[in-house]
Amino acid sequence: MAKKFKDNLLVVASHNEGKVREIGDLLKAFGLKTVSAASLDLPEPVEDGDSFIANAELKARSAAKKSGLVALADDSGLVVPSLGGRPGIHSARFAENPDTGKRDFDYAMKKLDDELKKTNGDRAAYFACALSLAWPVCEDCPDGHVETFEGRVYGSLVWPVRGENGFGYDPMFQADGYDITFGEMEADKKHLISHRANAFKKLIHACFE
Ligand code: IMP
Repeated sequence: MAKKFKDNLLVVASHNEGKVREIGDLLKAFGLKTVSAASLDLPEPVEDGDSFIANAELKARSAAKKSGLVALADDSGLVVPSLGGRPGIHSARFAENPDTGKRDFDYAMKKLDDELKKTNGDRAAYFACALSLAWPVCEDCPDGHVETFEGRVYGSLVWPVRGENGFGYDPMFQADGYDITFGEMEADKKHLISHRANAFKKLIHACFE
């Protein structure tokens, strides 16, 4: 283990209960208990980093500082190189439909396809996920300590979109080597090959094996 976990308790620096549950299930196997940032009433910091890694680190550092516990945060999104890396760290914001003011991924995927049709036809894309573990400041580590792991899954963007599974941009994303989109894939299968799975494999290898 890279660093000790106080009382084997870790705070998941996310206010998304689904994410907190999923991460808690994954870490249970390593004897760790998790609590959510929301249950500790921790404030959500402004995500003003310029990369997935910077945003994951600032969320983890903030939760570690405020809770005094080791904190785990993630940041993820879809990167399209032929669109200059967009929507990237703004993947959630890119899905805000100005007509309704709500997040709408049918709208976002159509907007992506419209933009892609104006490019050279390169529809390559990848999902990226950064996972950061931050330790609170202590006698031995006066500056705190952070370890970050990035996972990706490479593929391309299809049109029309296909499938009802998953969330976000899943129906538009087909991983390399597959002929179905993430929207058509069973959750168990996606969870083995996704950007999040790849980042977790790195974290578990570095911290628990
Ligand atoms: P966040 O890391 O929860 O803020 O997610 C950022 C945004 O990236 C989400 O709202 C989704 O739009 C997109 N995203 C991240 N991971 C996935 C995924 O596995 N499938 C589809 N969309 C994703």
